[in-house]
Amino acid sequence: MSEQIETPAPRIWVFIEQEEGQPHPVSWELLGAAARLSAELPGSVVEGVLLGHNVAGIAPQAYRYGATRVYLIDDPLLEPYRNLPYGHGVSMLVTKYKPEIFLFGATTLGRDLAGTIATRVHTGLTADCTELTIDPKLKILAATRPTFGGNLMATILCRKHRPQMATVRPRVLSMPEPLPAAEGELLREPLDLNERDIPVRRLRLIPGKEQLNIEYADVIVAGGRGMGGPKGFTLLEELAESLGGVVGASRPVIDAGWLGHEHQVGQTGKTVRPKLYIAAGISGAVQHTVGMSGSNFILAINSDPKAPIFQVANASIVGDLYKVIPELIRQVKGTRNGQ
Ligand SMILES: Cc1cc2nc3c(=O)[nH]c(=O)nc-3n(C[C@H](O)[C@H](O)[C@H](O)COP(=O)(O)OP(=O)(O)OC[C@H]3O[C@@H](n4cnc5c(N)ncnc54)[C@H](O)[C@@H]3O)c2cc1C
Repeated sequence: MSEQIETPAPRIWVFIEQEEGQPHPVSWELLGAAARLSAELPGSVVEGVLLGHNVAGIAPQAYRYGATRVYLIDDPLLEPYRNLPYGHGVSMLVTKYKPEIFLFGATTLGRDLAGTIATRVHTGLTADCTELTIDPKLKILAATRPTFGGNLMATILCRKHRPQMATVRPRVLSMPEPLPAAEGELLREPLDLNERDIPVRRLRLIPGKEQLNIEYADVIVAGGRGMGGPKGFTLLEELAESLGGVVGASRPVIDAGWLGHEHQVGQTGKTVRPKLYIAAGISGAVQHTVGMSGSNFILAINSDPKAPIFQVANASIVGDLYKVIPELIRQVKGTRNGQ
């Protein structure tokens, strides 16, 4: 009689990114995507991978966003982030538990780590994906990302190596609804590393200028080349401030040095999903709209009635932004003052 060998459930892993004990919301967005992939892969499980020091308290949040188990490596060597101990710990988990799919946020940390893991475990990595699905015939990950300057979308399959790895930028995927009562299992693993094995030390942290983070803003007032120069952006700042929002921009604005790159929305900038996105003097090139079309409500202001931005807008104003924006500011401030 032949003996039945039990094969483990295919594991879909998400790296739960944290810095100074604060989980990055992209981790929850990825857990939502992992759940959708799992629905296409019968018998698969969604699990999280968490590294850091004194970070076990993050695991219950991962359960609420869909992880049934969290693999935790908790060690003082993992605070602050350094590539070598994280690379060592995560690749050790991959070798031991053999996940099928492994997703990372395309953040500075996630990009650094995902590339290291793919190299260490000899697999491929599809970076900056915009869509993740399961190929219906092959039952493997189909990772889609822009190519040829954003003019084409390529779907990449990793047929022979495991895990199938992908990174996704914050806000590209929607945030799943958390399940408050969800519970999961915490599985601790040791790091097995000494400080003397790590050639890099952080001697001190020199705080930089506080970085503007437009990805999670509720209101964005964005300007394009149609602003005509840096001065016009004081108007946009005034409107953004009166709406409790931040200023975004199209790429030519950054290339011209009118604003810093942290304001750029689009394919080579940030992906945003605010409740309100105001696009002023922006034509609506696909490389821009790919970064903002997930906004709840888009108001476009452009003097050209044929501007493509109007095709993605919920409300359109055809006119000179230098007449429209001051009027908007007046009305918003008037509403605030109860007029
Ligand atoms: C590989 C690659 C990556 C790219 N990545 C990005 C990216 O991340 N983000 C991005 O934005 N772009 C990106 N681009 C550039 C993109 O293709 C467009 O060139 C860019 O988005 C155009 O910016 P814009 O709409 O501000 O300028 P324009 O296309 O020049 O549009 C200006 C608009 O302002 C309007 N206008 C002018 N004056 C007024 C006025 N007084 N009142 C009202 N409207 C006015 C005009 O009618 C026009 O529609 C990328 C391109 C490539 C090739």
